Amino acid sequence: MSSSIELPRWPQLSDEDIEAAVAALRSNRLVGLGNSVVTDFEAALAAGQGVEHAVAVSTGTAAVHLALHALDVGPGDEVIVPTHTFIGSASPVTYLGARPVFADVTPDTHCLDPDSVKALLTERTKAIVVVHINGCAADMEALSALGAEAGVPVIEDMAQALGTSIGGRPVGGFGDLACVSLFEQKVITSGGEGGAVLTNNPAYAERVRRLRSHGEGPIEGRPGLIWAHEVGYNYRLTSVQAAVGHAQHKRLDTMLAARRRNAAYLTERLGGIDGLELPVEPENTVHAFWKYVVRVAPGGGRAPAAEIAATLRSRGVPVLLRYPFPLHRQPAFAEHQGVSLPVAERLSQELLALPSHPGLGEEHLDHVADEVRRAVTA
Ligand SMILES: *Cc1c(COP(=O)(O)O)cnc(C)c1O
Repeated sequence: MSSSIELPRWPQLSDEDIEAAVAALRSNRLVGLGNSVVTDFEAALAAGQGVEHAVAVSTGTAAVHLALHALDVGPGDEVIVPTHTFIGSASPVTYLGARPVFADVTPDTHCLDPDSVKALLTERTKAIVVVHINGCAADMEALSALGAEAGVPVIEDMAQALGTSIGGRPVGGFGDLACVSLFEQKVITSGGEGGAVLTNNPAYAERVRRLRSHGEGPIEGRPGLIWAHEVGYNYRLTSVQAAVGHAQHKRLDTMLAARRRNAAYLTERLGGIDGLELPVEPENTVHAFWKYVVRVAPGGGRAPAAEIAATLRSRGVPVLLRYPFPLHRQPAFAEHQGVSLPVAERLSQELLALPSHPGLGEEHLDHVADEVRRAVTA
């Protein structure tokens, strides 16, 4: 059993990514509205997800913020967000003076549970943020139906789900708006930070585009002049970032295939271990496997997931507890401490994300699987 193997890290930039960045720098147009490096990347993102509009922005969190702002979320409003997600799904709700209402997730997909959402909808609900967590598709059929019935728009947080699809359709077009992250650890990156808002609604696209750059836009009847129609932000993506993002996006299919191959390999190698539950791929969906998340069932004399994680890290396998703190249990959301969301609370003690990114080969995955088997069955 090899224990001194060094696992490659993610992300991995190619020569094309680096040349694209250099070319964008040499063009001497670094930001600029209407910059073709940025608009070409936006067109590629929109085409890839099968939506009409993509607006590139500075981060995934900015994308969530702008999507919520485009829906006029503000003080007095509630926004339903799963508690089992990265904080960037929820913090923008508070930027706008609204209140996140945390919902539970399903035990198998770890995505928003429609029954939990149903119980939390009120007159004040202004939006529902659905997260395709780890690249697993959320139940958009049920969640969109709930939104439509209540007249509440749905935002897809697909920060972890470039490559995910439902019934052959890529995610991003199921909600009213969708949010992409291009942070360095995500499926693809625009060179460290980046994001995008996707939508089929031209009014939302125009509003997001305007809010991205200080709320400024043309004045009717005053050609050549712009002013701020409303207070916006500086959430622009630079041309260097867009160039890297576009170069990476061209390899999205290859990277997705590698992620799925690695996931299938781990599933094959980790089968039949008592108390170890492997990730599910809901019927009729494609899981992007941004993270390969396993559940360590408590009992059976097994160590708890946190202990197994520590053991694995000491043996050179960089596993992560897959959200050890549900959002409603973190100090930032202290006023939500009293809420009970039993599935997410339980999962927070049981889930581990194993290394599975496209930079890993079978020899690395063998090492991961061997060490996981040893730690879980110890
Ligand atoms: C990464 C992430 C975000 C935020 O994206 P950044 O680009 O890091 O700001 C939002 N939601 C989810 C689910 C994420 O994983």
